[in-house]
Amino acid sequence: MIRIDIISIFPEIFDPFIKTSLIDRAQKKGLLQIKLHNLRDWTEDNHQTVDDRPYGGGIGMVMKVEPIFRAVKDIKKAKRTKKRKVILFSPRGRKFNQKTAHSLSKLSHIVMLCGRYEGVDERVAKKIADMELSIGDYVLMGGELPAMVVTESLARLIPGVLGKPVFLKERVTRKKGFVEYPQYTRPEVFQAGRGKKWKVPEVLISGDHKKIQEWREKHSKIIGS
Ligand code: SAH
Repeated sequence: MIRIDIISIFPEIFDPFIKTSLIDRAQKKGLLQIKLHNLRDWTEDNHQTVDDRPYGGGIGMVMKVEPIFRAVKDIKKAKRTKKRKVILFSPRGRKFNQKTAHSLSKLSHIVMLCGRYEGVDERVAKKIADMELSIGDYVLMGGELPAMVVTESLARLIPGVLGKPVFLKERVTRKKGFVEYPQYTRPEVFQAGRGKKWKVPEVLISGDHKKIQEWREKHSKIIGS
């Protein structure tokens, strides 16, 4: 069972995501547990302030260190484990890939910190987070989408989340990349218009498992290792 605690100032963004069938089913099967938290619950002033102006000036606001510190401390208390990582999302972080998804899927506790505004006080990255992750070279408005990206990609690597665990094994390489190849389903021939027949490659209909395997290997791409 992996527990994921997500700290955000917009936790409601995650509601439809965690209700989607596979994530919901994984939670019901006890393979995954996602807990959402509003960072404002760890503020101590009437305005529930989570941000302040940047030292040195410049545009926008910066998320304060104190509420994040208190939130992470409380959440750590709720789950005692050594197999934990606290992740801060940042466009300056290490680039997230399939291999990282794989190693995260082996943990028992992940705490995700979603930034907003112009970013997060750097002391969070230096002192509180175990790793900073970027989901790509572009700047978003918050860490919520990155948290969903990372949650979804690691969730599908947990045996039992996506159907039969044996099939999962076949798709993960020794270096922890994921094997992806083209897929087809019925109909065998799709009539897209007059004289336009879109066919499924014959080998896939042949029933010859060795040949199908060869075809898939030839057309496959290993993702992220
Ligand atoms: N100036 C900040 C970025 C602000 S974007 C900096 O240099 O770190 C606001 C928040 O969105 C960030 O704190 C981060 O949590 C999230 N974010 C934006 N782009 C991201 C990306 N590519 N990967 C991961 N998180 C990102």
